Amino acid sequence: MDFSISRGLQTTLERVREVVDLQIIPLEPALLSRPFSELRPALAAVRDEVRASGFWAPQLPETLGGMGLSLLEFAHVAEELGRSPLGNYAFNCQAPDAGNMELLREFGTDEQRRLYLEPLAAGECRSCFAMTEPDHAGSNPVWMGTRAVRDGDDYVIDGRKWFASAADGASFAIVMAVTDPAAEPHRRASLFIVPAGTPGFRRVRNIPCMGHAGDDWASHAELAFERCRVPRESRLGEEGAGFDMAQARLGPGRIHHAMRWIGVCRRAFEMLCDRAATRELAPGDPLGTRQAVQEWIAESLAAIEAARLLVLHAAWTIDASGPSAARDAISLVKFHVAGVMQQVIDRAVQAHGALGISDDTVLSWFYRQERAARIYDGPDEVHKAVVARRILAGRKPSGGEVPR
Ligand SMILES: Cc1cc2nc3c(=O)[nH]c(=O)nc-3n(C[C@H](O)[C@H](O)[C@H](O)COP(=O)(O)OP(=O)(O)OC[C@H]3O[C@@H](n4cnc5c(N)ncnc54)[C@H](O)[C@@H]3O)c2cc1C
Repeated sequence: MDFSISRGLQTTLERVREVVDLQIIPLEPALLSRPFSELRPALAAVRDEVRASGFWAPQLPETLGGMGLSLLEFAHVAEELGRSPLGNYAFNCQAPDAGNMELLREFGTDEQRRLYLEPLAAGECRSCFAMTEPDHAGSNPVWMGTRAVRDGDDYVIDGRKWFASAADGASFAIVMAVTDPAAEPHRRASLFIVPAGTPGFRRVRNIPCMGHAGDDWASHAELAFERCRVPRESRLGEEGAGFDMAQARLGPGRIHHAMRWIGVCRRAFEMLCDRAATRELAPGDPLGTRQAVQEWIAESLAAIEAARLLVLHAAWTIDASGPSAARDAISLVKFHVAGVMQQVIDRAVQAHGALGISDDTVLSWFYRQERAARIYDGPDEVHKAVVARRILAGRKPSGGEVPR
């Protein structure tokens, strides 16, 4: 295992950090106080600079205008970007588009790549991914009610989805729907590309989450499909392969989130330390002199460094041996890093007192938005069960004998 950073990557990381510190973090007060759509002009200007500097879409190959980094190299960049909620967006590696780009690259036809992947890679449009449904447990991905029924050369889609992130303003949705309810569970569903504006495809609402409905990219929508007719060519991949493709999308995608979460941890940790050093409980008596706060700082740093190594290890395994060899590593990273992040954010909020829960710092954004990390892309409990089942698979009941 080699996690060393080349000189070239080191220079890139320093420049990326500069962009985040000088151009992206100053936009955060607006993110916290105004609709996201009002930030778009300022973000577009930052995106232009990022593109011109050669840092655009670090996760994509150069043939698509990206930086062509390995997953391990991208992990380092994503850590820098994750320090701001706007970092990934500014560099065009934001969810859910990054995952959709992966899907289209791997499974799209030439025409689908031309129509959907190329504009996404160029940052000319956004997309969403619609799999979860209000009436079915999202943690059981093979159980859903949305149907796509063949009708001549078309499919007709009916159903309801929700928590489709960034659907507000997206040019198209990649939608999972059951095409053969009689097939074995993992072969029942297929994926479809449904452009916005297709008759029968409706965004019902942006779902208010913890007091904020959000808008544009910073939102999660409920979607309705009512006799929504799409041509056969809009099916992505084979019929019945929807589940397998979604899994392929979520493999590296989960690592993308975890890489970003390390950046969130870093930022919250920086704020925790700054607050400990500068907030005086009495003249000349800063918060950081208290043992409880010192313990938060030391415990947080140890947890972040350990989580970071877990992420780098998972990325390295995927680079070296592919996502299936990294299945356990991906599950471990998904629940462990989410938990570390939640704890570090909570400590930083606590250290900031009332300021910590106000919208005057980015901590409230992290606290609200990142709680979901333990739920999306598979809740903690599901990942833990997956890992534990594999660990226990080779072991047999003792038949009454006490194992030694
Ligand atoms: C911010 C956010 C963004 C999202 N973005 C998208 C998106 O873009 N596209 C999309 O399709 N979906 C998206 N989702 C949906 C997400 O993938 C689902 O919420 C997730 O899969 C869990 O499904 P559920 O909400 O139906 O919870 P349920 O399946 O109802 O589970 C509820 C709870 O039960 C527990 N649980 C579930 N299964 C088990 C088990 N096997 N053992 C023990 N406990 C268990 C867990 O604690 C879980 O949190 C998003 C969700 C959030 C919160």
